[in-house]
Order: sequence, then structure tokens, then C-alpha cells
Amino acid sequence: MNTRDKHFETLSIHAGGEDRNPKNALNYPIFMTSAFEFDSLEHADATFGFETQDYVYTRGNNPTLKVLEERMAVLEGGAASVAFASGMAAISSVLMSLLKPGDEVVAHRMLYGSAWDFIKNILPQYGVGSRLVDLTNIADLADQITARTKVVYFETPVNPSLEIIDIAAVCDIARAKGAKVVVDNTFATPFFQRPMELGADVVVHSATKYISGHGDVIAGIAVAKDEDYASELKFGCMCEFGGVMSPFTGWLLLRGLKTLALRMRQHEKNALAVARYLEQHPRVNRVYYPGLPSSPGYDTAKAQMSGFGGMVSFDIDGTLPQSKQVVNSMRLFKLAVSLGDCESLVQHPFAMTHRGYTEEEISAAGLTPSMVRLSVGLEHQDDLIADLEQALSVMG
Ligand SMILES: *Cc1c(COP(=O)(O)O)cnc(C)c1O
Repeated sequence: MNTRDKHFETLSIHAGGEDRNPKNALNYPIFMTSAFEFDSLEHADATFGFETQDYVYTRGNNPTLKVLEERMAVLEGGAASVAFASGMAAISSVLMSLLKPGDEVVAHRMLYGSAWDFIKNILPQYGVGSRLVDLTNIADLADQITARTKVVYFETPVNPSLEIIDIAAVCDIARAKGAKVVVDNTFATPFFQRPMELGADVVVHSATKYISGHGDVIAGIAVAKDEDYASELKFGCMCEFGGVMSPFTGWLLLRGLKTLALRMRQHEKNALAVARYLEQHPRVNRVYYPGLPSSPGYDTAKAQMSGFGGMVSFDIDGTLPQSKQVVNSMRLFKLAVSLGDCESLVQHPFAMTHRGYTEEEISAAGLTPSMVRLSVGLEHQDDLIADLEQALSVMG
């Protein structure tokens, strides 16, 4: 299929996996097998030497995962991608593959909790330095990237602050300094944002979230601009660390991708309604949503994204215990980590996922410990707003 002249909605259903399906099933089968049988030692030899398209062992390659990898590469505009057991397996493997002792990673100061821990606490144990900076303000970035800096890493929109980082601007500065840029595109998905088209070298995803869309898997994907690097990541890193995705998970993600465009549009529509509702609520101090014109990231988001996504955070006009009471009072928004599911979810980042951050780090990032984060789902927006209304009313 010529993918260049097709739209996202078509590619998310059809891209990848051509002429590889041995039983002409309309939907690509799940190849639940550890190993693949060879006809002879000669066949094995040719396959180990990459002279055939055949398979050896699912930790290295699997037909179902191959279709997913091809489809994700097309959707992100990359050369190739690698499927991982989790978003963290993708993130840790990508960082380990690009950094060696003596190198340094520059990352945004606010990150997904486990990515922050990996960069701040684990990489230094292997001689890799980390420097956490404010990438929403890049005036000093050129000075913060040193000769040792090999990777610049960030998410945009940022979890849970929903800040927006200017991907093209960061990539320009990093490229001039010889550093690779890795962007976590989990919140936006390739439907709303394609970082590689703006200069990023690698895009990582927690496919657990919107790409699955149904809250029933743990999965990760890394998409690379360079085909040789993707191959090195797969056969020289994923295969050795062993964080491979199950073929069953890959099949569920292929199913999730078919409705990604539809779901993302509806998530955004509901999120915008929720953000507007919260913005006018007398007991809400601040709403963090890049789609509100009052948001500091609005102009950049409008320029680099085709939609603002489904994540909304807010601060109540009240105390920390009151913010916990509001969260405890929600009924339709389920109290759970994760995001991107059909169900609306609520969590309290600094009591839950971001508890590793100190008060100083939270306020240095311009946030409050009582911030509430919503993953706005696909329910009717009136029901979601009614739930927020009753939960906020407990403050009196
Ligand atoms: C969930 C998440 C991750 C980690 O992904 P897992 O699939 O849970 O390992 C990384 N980045 C972001 C932005 C996330 O939301």
C-alpha cells in the first residue's frame, strides 16, 4: 500500500503487515509461539543471517508484533519501531541504548514518575549524569547542553502539569550540539502530534494508554527516525534486556489503533468541555489544559499539535485535605492511575504517582501539592460535569 497518499484514519486500520499473512485472515492472527520451526540447518543459517524474512524466537521477532511495529512506524512518520513489554521498558531501553558511562541526559524537570526515577536515580548508578531543566523556557538550553550531553528527553504535553514544550525549537538546539532528542508522545498520540516531523530522533509511548485505549494491557513502543538505530535497539538492546511485548498484547494494540482517531477526537471534545466547566467554577483556582486560550502553552500547542488531547489537571481553591476530599467524592471518575481509557479516571499526582517529588521540586515547577489530574474518558460530557459538580460541592 502506498502510505504517502493515505490519511491517518486509513493508515491506523491498514498500514503494515502486507503479504505476511499465511492464512489470509482479514485480521492479522496472534502468533502465540515461543520459537519458529526451521526446514533445515541451512534454513536456520539463512534466517539467523537475516537473509530470509522468517522468524527465530519471539523475544527477537514475531509476526503479530511485526505488523504492529510497521503500523506504528507509519503513524509516527518514522523508519521503524520496536514493541516493548511496557512504556518503561521502551524508555529505559532507549536511554540505555543511547547513553554510556560519562555521558549525560538533559530532561525536563517534570516527567512521568518512573521515567523521572530512572533518569534521576538509576542512570547515575551506571555513570550517566542527569540534568533536570525547565524545557518550557529554552533561552538557556544551549548552555545547559554540554559536550557530554547525548540525549535530551521530555514529554509534551507534560505529565501531570500539561505544560507544552516546543519540540522543533528544542530539536534545533539539541541538533546543533550533537545530542539526540527522545520525546514521550503518550499524551498526544500520533493522531494529534508527530514529534519526528518536528525533528525528534526517537518517539516513545506507553501504549498502555491511548493506543490500547481500553485499559487492559501494559505495553510500550519506541519509534525511530533511523532504521539502523531501530534495528540496534531491537536486536542489540530489547532482545538482551528482554522486555518484549506479548503477541497477544500486540494484537490488542492493533485493535485499539483502529479506533484511535475516533477516540482521540471524543476524548478531546469531552476534555475541552470539562476544562471550560472547571475554569468558570468559583472553587477552582487554576485549570491546566493546553486547549484553553488562557493556558501558557496554548500557542505552541496550537502550532505543533492538531488537537489538545484528553488530559486535564486543576487546583481547587482550598486546602490539601479538601483536594483529597474532592477526589474521594468523585463517582464516575474512577480513582486510579493510568490514563487514556474509555473510563474517566482521577488521580492525585503528589499523593500517588509523583510522590517522589519534594515540596520544593513541586513549587519550583510552578505546581501545587493539591493538584488533581483527570483522564477524561468517553462517557457523556454532561454526566462527567455533573460528577465534578457534586464532588466540588463537598467543599461547601
Ligand atoms: C504510563 C506512562 C509511562 C510508563 O508506561 P508503562 O506502560 O506504565 O510502563 C511513561 N510515560 C507516560 C507519559 C505515561 O503516562
